[in-house]
Parts: sequence; structure tokens; C-alpha cells
Amino acid sequence: MRPFEYVLATDPAEAVAAVTADPTAAYLAGGTTQVDLMLKDGILSPERLVDITRLPLKGVTATGTAIRVGAATTMEEMAADPAVAQRLPFVREALLLGASVQLRNMATSAGTCCSRTRCRYFRDPTVGACNKRQPGTGCAAVNGAARMHAILGASANCIALHASDLAVPLVALDTIVEIQGTTGIRSVPLTEFYLEPGDTPDVENILRREELITGVEIPLLPEGARSTYLKVRDRASYEFALTSAGVAVVLENGVIREGRVALGGVATVPWRAWAAEEMLQGAPANAQTFLAVAEAAVQDPFTVPGTAFKVDLARRTLVRALQTVVGGAA
Ligand SMILES: Cc1cc2nc3c(=O)[nH]c(=O)nc-3n(C[C@H](O)[C@H](O)[C@H](O)COP(=O)(O)OP(=O)(O)OC[C@H]3O[C@@H](n4cnc5c(N)ncnc54)[C@H](O)[C@@H]3O)c2cc1C
Ligand code: SF4
Repeated sequence: MRPFEYVLATDPAEAVAAVTADPTAAYLAGGTTQVDLMLKDGILSPERLVDITRLPLKGVTATGTAIRVGAATTMEEMAADPAVAQRLPFVREALLLGASVQLRNMATSAGTCCSRTRCRYFRDPTVGACNKRQPGTGCAAVNGAARMHAILGASANCIALHASDLAVPLVALDTIVEIQGTTGIRSVPLTEFYLEPGDTPDVENILRREELITGVEIPLLPEGARSTYLKVRDRASYEFALTSAGVAVVLENGVIREGRVALGGVATVPWRAWAAEEMLQGAPANAQTFLAVAEAAVQDPFTVPGTAFKVDLARRTLVRALQTVVGGAA
């Protein structure tokens, strides 16, 4: 590990200035990814770490139409908030199915949205080449062992998974990210925040290096909406998703008036299944609809031998999530 300077920021503008001033600097939130990548994996070596956990960016505030979550709010604090539990139940489910309680007490809402891939070739330079870690060197996962990898939004240059659970319901809900830069604050839909790898897997989102996420604004589900987050994984706890589905529907007399669908565990970005949502509008809530919707949700997958099973598993995960959310109404 290389020595680094630790800066405890007390004001967002000061934090942005500290990162702007040093081209190697990085933000430190809960540190559950950042510290691993520096100390355990040794693939990041910022000379300055700007700690943002003491900024006045903590807390959950409910308005009539949305819930605002400060960037430094931990996953556990967010899950424990009554407004999140009552008005955004599948957000709470996604939070509580992520990591462990110890990690959730450290990891923040913004850090979770920016969490880095678990791809072993990215984290361990001794096992293979990685375009994300070192652009232009190749992607060992495409021709090597791959399982916890993406089948949607992937390219031959990178099949790294975005593994955040929280980000799945957040993209389904049209969440807005608030970002502070050197010239002020901008707001960006979370669906436009993430970038698929294409030819530049090292560029994961639209954040400029010095920009700081200050919070997210999550529009509320309509009154009477039902929602669920289903996570399929190799073991029952403390494990990343093989596949997941975040689903919300408004149901009227057995017909779906409005549906939101996002997938996790299968894509390079938290995956909003727009085509599936279109098919849900006005459709009867029955098995035939759900099978067709699941087929539409996983189109043109990019698979390698180790990930081919995910096509069917992702569809079945979505069917089960839809069945769960409509309950006895189907
Ligand atoms: C063993 C293990 C298992 C896990 N399992 C799961 C799981 O099943 N599901 C799940 O969803 N998560 C899981 N996590 C948590 C997840 O992978 C991340 O570690 C965590 O969410 C990161 O949050 P953090 O606050 O610790 O971020 P940090 O590690 O501090 O930062 C992560 C990145 O985000 C940047 N960043 C942080 N905050 C901001 C901000 N406000 N503005 C701009 N950039 C920022 C940092 O610079 C860094 O690049 C797991 C983690 C571990 C270690
Ligand atoms: S999948 Fe992406 S992160 Fe993994 S080795 Fe390939 S380029 Fe690197």
C-alpha cells in the first residue's frame, strides 16, 4: 500500500475542492469497496482520500411525492426509515438483502450506487488482463472463468456486472441523482447515470472525477401500488445476486394499469426493462403475460459459457417476482 493523505471534509464544497486540487484524490464514504481496492487488492493508490461521511448529507426526508436520501446515509439507516418501509417497500427489501448488517452499517447510499465490480480479473492483476483496470489490455473474463458476470449491456471488451441491489429498484422508480461539482449542482436521472462498457469499460458513469453525489430523490410509488424485490443467489445470505428483479405494479380488477421492472445480477448497469414495462401496461395479470414480459426483458444477451444459464434464470426470476407481486390476483 502506498501512503496517502487523509482529509476529513466538513462541507460539500470543501470536499469537491479537495478532490479537484489533487488529480489522484478520491472520495471515501463507508470504505467497504474503496478500502478493499486500496489495501486488499492493491489496485487503487490515491494520494489523497477525502472522507465524506461527516458531511451534512445524512438522513431521509419524505415530501408528498418523493423521498430524499442524503448521500452519507447508510444502507441500514435507509432501510430503517419508516417512510422507506411504508412507501417504497421493495427498496427496503433490496437494502436488507444486500451484504451483511455490519457492512450495511458502514456502506452509504451513494457508495452503493457507485460500488465497483466484483470481477476477479479486475481485482486481482495476477489472474488476467482487464480493460477496466488497464484500458486496452483485454478482458480475461470473456475467454476465461466467468459466472458473476453480465449478459445484458455487455460487450466483448467487458462483461463486468454492476452488483448493487439498491440501484435496481432505484432505476425502476426514476430516481434522480443530485451531483455537486465545481460550478454548482446538477440533477441526473439514475437511468442516465450509468454507462455500459462499450469500448471504454473504465468509464462507468457520468460523474466527472471531482463530482460528489449529495443525495438521491426517489419518486413515490402511486397509492395502492404493490412491489417486490426478488434476489436469487448461491447462498441464502451475505452473497451477491446471480439474478434479481425489482418489480412494482398498480393492479385494477386483474389488469395491470402500470408496471415498473428492473433487473439486477445480469447487466453491466442496473437494468431498466423498458420493453417489459410497455408490455405490462393494460395486460391481464396472468401467467401468459408474465412469460411474454420475461422474454421481452432479456433480449439479445451477450453470453459466455459460464453465464449462459443466466438467460433462463433471469426470466424465471422475473416471472416469479411478478407472480409474487400480484399474489392471489393472477
Ligand atoms: C463482502 C461484501 C459483500 C457485499 N455484498 C453486497 C450485496 O450483496 N449487495 C449490495 O448491494 N452490496 C453489497 N456490498 C456492498 C457494496 O459492494 C459496496 O461495498 C458498498 O455499497 C460501497 O459503499 P461505501 O459507502 O462503503 O462506498 P466506498 O467504498 O467508500 O466508495 C465506493 C466508491 O464510490 C465512490 N463514492 C462514494 N460516495 C460517493 C459520493 N457521495 N460521490 C461520489 N463518489 C462516491 C468512492 O470514491 C468509491 O469509488 C458488499 C460489500 C462487501 C465488501
Ligand atoms: S469483465 Fe470487465 S472488469 Fe472483468 S476482466 Fe473483463 S474488462 Fe475487466
